[in-house]
Amino acid sequence: MRLLLFGAPGVGKGTQAKLLSIKFNIPHISTGDILREAVKNQTELGKKAEEIMNRGDLVPDEVMIGIIRDRLIKSDCQNGFILDGFPRTTKQAIALDKLLDEMNINDLKLINIYADEEEIVKRLNNRRACKECGKIFTLSEIQDKDECPNCHSRTSFYLRDDDKEEVIRKRLEVFRKNTEPVLTYYEKKGKVISVNGFGDIEDVNKKLLNALSK
Ligand code: AMP
Repeated sequence: MRLLLFGAPGVGKGTQAKLLSIKFNIPHISTGDILREAVKNQTELGKKAEEIMNRGDLVPDEVMIGIIRDRLIKSDCQNGFILDGFPRTTKQAIALDKLLDEMNINDLKLINIYADEEEIVKRLNNRRACKECGKIFTLSEIQDKDECPNCHSRTSFYLRDDDKEEVIRKRLEVFRKNTEPVLTYYEKKGKVISVNGFGDIEDVNKKLLNALSK
């Protein structure tokens, strides 16, 4: 199974991608996670991407296409994969098509998770990440906790720069302008399944599995 999880930042793509990755035993490939790891390790890529990410802009297409090409040819992607956060521009979508053609893959489906923008702003502004392991929690999940429930490091929660309200608004604007056309691109190919992202994680996951089984 080859899936592309599509939706505005904060709509819950990453969470759903993780659940699907476990259920279908295929890798979850998040370009945001790959870039954050590079920033954390201050690699050449990380140094270039950091400032762009912090202001809510997009990392150049050529860089992203190179990252995805290197990742999709790894052996763990042979039986399928879930893309999360890529493609984010029509240019990336065209490059992905070309790459999949070369790999003789033609079963890619796009799952469009949609939600109200104000709900997204509220959700993202309520997220906190662990400085050590990067796992994300809602404020209510870590209330009164001084230890990360995932990696047990102490007092390491922070609001990611790109989750601050002014940056979220910028990311939503970039999404509308640069990324929404990707949906139209795949709609024309008849490869889109749409699911309402409003609701709790399990609800959305059920809706998603239901839509996939049709
Ligand atoms: P995400 O966690 O998917 O929201 O990604 C965080 C940030 O990484 C985005 O706001 C972009 O700056 C950058 N990024 C992730 N994926 C891409 C992509 N496919 N193209 C360009 N920039 C990306």
